[in-house]
Amino acid sequence: MRTVIENAAIATVDASGTEIPSGYVVIEDELIVAVGEGPAPAGEYDERIDGRGRLVTPGLVNTHHHLYQWATRGLAADHTLFEWLVELYPIWGRLDAEITHAAATAGLARLAMTGCTTVADHHYVFPRDAGDQVEALVSANSRVGTRIHIVRGSMDRGESDGGLPPDNLVEETEAALLGTERAIDQHHDTSANARVRIAAGPCSPFSVSERLMTGAAELARRKGVRLHTHLAETLDEEEQCLAEVGCTPAEYADKLGWLGDDVWLAHTVHLAPEAIRKLGATRTGSAHCPTSNGRLGTGIAPVRALLDAGAPVGLGVDGAASNESGGLGEELRQSLFQARQRGGPKALTTRQALWMGTMGGARCLGRESEIGSVEVGKLADLALWDLNGLLYAGITDPVAALVLGATPPIARLLVGGKTVVSGGELRTADEASIARELSAASARLRETR
Ligand code: ZN
Repeated sequence: MRTVIENAAIATVDASGTEIPSGYVVIEDELIVAVGEGPAPAGEYDERIDGRGRLVTPGLVNTHHHLYQWATRGLAADHTLFEWLVELYPIWGRLDAEITHAAATAGLARLAMTGCTTVADHHYVFPRDAGDQVEALVSANSRVGTRIHIVRGSMDRGESDGGLPPDNLVEETEAALLGTERAIDQHHDTSANARVRIAAGPCSPFSVSERLMTGAAELARRKGVRLHTHLAETLDEEEQCLAEVGCTPAEYADKLGWLGDDVWLAHTVHLAPEAIRKLGATRTGSAHCPTSNGRLGTGIAPVRALLDAGAPVGLGVDGAASNESGGLGEELRQSLFQARQRGGPKALTTRQALWMGTMGGARCLGRESEIGSVEVGKLADLALWDLNGLLYAGITDPVAALVLGATPPIARLLVGGKTVVSGGELRTADEASIARELSAASARLRETR
């Protein structure tokens, strides 16, 4: 199968930031085989995609999500993170594999329609007798046609151990580690074109024991998978950490072996200068979730300082219960706004925002040699943004349009060369059926309250 996108503007996000005002991308099966300026090379193509008035970028990479939360949007709307968690935990305690599948399918569909091709989903709620939730995520991903990095999460510190989650929502420590190992053995695919990878991800230091944090790190390194957790999201967390273990969350992570180039951390909002330096020196990644941070009023992450220190920073939507929009395209704009609100007008450029949404995310997930830029030899995970029509007619800088403006419709989304979205519509599954299943799943969660 040989496809060409022609006459398109291209933002390659390669190491030199190459941009092409009008050019082509040739795709053979799952790979990009040619990128250049001017007319497409002569030859036989199975499909020619018209790129006029459109912008090609790498598919966006979402480094932090909780897909199951698509079924519990709009709750605890004016709460702090800890209050929000306490209200939502009991509802999440009634999750089962069917609800998770419905919510994940809808969440992935929404992400695809906002330019996202790869999603890291941190799933940490495993109620007893809920069925195989990891399998529910795998099947949702294959239905939509995206790539997923399932972070097999866990919590083992319930209310009776001074944690936030109710006791019936936490697992025994060893059971959580075994469940994580099983997910890796069953689903982790190391091939370059992998559609499913697994990472180990205790939920957060305030919901898990020290043993689960160190056990997960040992397991992940033994199995060669990556590590992920929430860290330094709120000042409440920092206060709790100081009171309980006498150091900040970043110092605690360091002490437990949780810094390194195989780790990426969600949020990292509250970091002392020394912690920023350390994240940079160890190449520990950050999943920056600006909309969720705004929704919960947690603060503005020091993204400029992290990038300057050499830390990979990617963008994350976070769960739809704290980001009801659930789209990744708009996080480009939010990240730029928040960086400039914190550090002034020069704190982040439009190109740097696009870099975080693509290559930065690929680095967080350890896939920088496979995805994240439009380069020969990389997987054909591409977004073709439609800048024709009322929203963008006449605009001269397509990257500025994408980052600063409303998220444009997707003319085409390819994952490994396969069409997932075209003409603004999902082509791999029926949107109306997904919406019906989601409504039924959300209603069932409410009914059993
Ligand atoms: Zn999160």
